Amino acid sequence: MPFGETKDKRKYDLNNCPFCGSVVLKIMKRASDEFPEITPRIVSYYVSCENCGACGPPGLDVEGAASLWNRCIPRPDPIKEAIKRNRNDPK
Ligand SMILES: [Zn+2]
Repeated sequence: MPFGETKDKRKYDLNNCPFCGSVVLKIMKRASDEFPEITPRIVSYYVSCENCGACGPPGLDVEGAASLWNRCIPRPDPIKEAIKRNRNDPK
């Protein structure tokens, strides 16, 4: 791994990125622009992978974002799946 684990990764026990396996993960904070009349702004948190740019689902707090990230399951790559199937079942 070219980069070490981030503090957030260790602190919140985040799983490696489900897309690229990276451990360079950061919890980001985002203030919603959708309802500017509501103050304070609605704030959400999400885990972001610094390596591939993947973002986890937004949570209302850091712990929520971390647990949503840890439940992320990468979608299987349809091409890789087809290759695997061909190998297991040659015609
Ligand atoms: Zn990633």
